Amino acid sequence: MKPMGPIPAGFGREEGMLLIGGCGAESLVDEAGDTPLFVYDMAMVEAQVRRFRDAMPAGIDLHYAIKANSFAPLLSRMAVQVDGFDIASGGELEMALEAGMAPDRISFAGPGKRTDELTAAIFAGVTINLESEGEARRAIAAGQAIGKQPRLAVRVNPDFDLKGSGMRMGGGAKPFGVDADRAAALARMVIEAGADWRGWHIFAGSQNLDAQAIIDTQAATIALAARLSQEVGATPPLVNLGGGFGLAYFPGDTPLDIRPIGAALGQALESRPPILAGSRFALELGRWLVGEAGVYLTRVVDVKDSQGERFVVVDGGLHHQLAASGNFGTVVRRNYPIAVASRFEAAPALDPVTIVGCLCTPIDRLGDKVALPEISEGDLIAIFLAGAYGASASPMAFLGHPPARELLLG
Ligand SMILES: *Cc1c(COP(=O)(O)O)cnc(C)c1O
Repeated sequence: MKPMGPIPAGFGREEGMLLIGGCGAESLVDEAGDTPLFVYDMAMVEAQVRRFRDAMPAGIDLHYAIKANSFAPLLSRMAVQVDGFDIASGGELEMALEAGMAPDRISFAGPGKRTDELTAAIFAGVTINLESEGEARRAIAAGQAIGKQPRLAVRVNPDFDLKGSGMRMGGGAKPFGVDADRAAALARMVIEAGADWRGWHIFAGSQNLDAQAIIDTQAATIALAARLSQEVGATPPLVNLGGGFGLAYFPGDTPLDIRPIGAALGQALESRPPILAGSRFALELGRWLVGEAGVYLTRVVDVKDSQGERFVVVDGGLHHQLAASGNFGTVVRRNYPIAVASRFEAAPALDPVTIVGCLCTPIDRLGDKVALPEISEGDLIAIFLAGAYGASASPMAFLGHPPARELLLG
């Protein structure tokens, strides 16, 4: 048997059935029409936003990185919950505008922005987080071509990283941002070219559960922003401090307590260098806001034995929920929290089972030797922590199965 990650708080049970947002999992499938199905509970997302606001000092803006979950109904609700959207493509630009987010609260990061994407962003009035000198030149030229002043921030590849991150995005050679020792020169170039310089974007890592590491990185980020601003000789309107708040996906993970982070950030901002006195600050979060609020529901198609092992074959798979198969940003495959929806919290059967998806590939494994209650054909399996990097980060077209349905509650 192999352990599973912890089931997040906030789910209920009635007559053995898993409740999501107070509704039985089977009736949610009825409502949506079929499995496989992602269910997102907006009340849980809103509770996370409140937790953020309660913990963080006043004046810290909350940005949502929409690549974590860009389901349109969820995005429109998020547009009124957070202070800005962070996007990473022309497609996400359209989604963000469609959701009703004001263009001057949208920032566009990501390497490899095509010139037509830059033009669309400048035309809309969105801030572009510049990833390179070449991109800066193309953005300035694109602004001139349409007669509009571009709003440009400089993304900095910091000279440190966020220790213990699931995904490292800074420190060392990186395709993201420009190295810290060239960032001030780029900001000066942008200002001299007549663009509206919006400040710094410094993102050092993702999926972190170590509050002290986040605190240290935020302090280093503020110090770096101050040093670079000094070199430019101007106050940045906005300093985007990155994010990195992680979720407890796996056995042994302890949920992140963000209150000490907020307290330390409050102190760091109070004693910040004078050049940043007039700056706003933002944190950009994806998974932490939406990950726990999503459940992937998939039905058992077959139960079969092979050489003493029991395989439970479901109608979903890695084409919808790649991360649970261990093939999205993890080095070692570990089990996400899983339950049998109709026997939620029931005692496990004696023998562990392996849950596999319906794709004809050995990597489509959603639960490896997990202890679950007795399972038969037709049962509904719930995979938790599916609110982030599920539908938006999985190869839906792989093997020609239909896309998953999605349902927003609350
Ligand atoms: C992906 C990404 C995020 C969100 O990361 P999470 O781990 O989901 O919080 C934030 N900022 C940038 C620049 C990103 O690329």
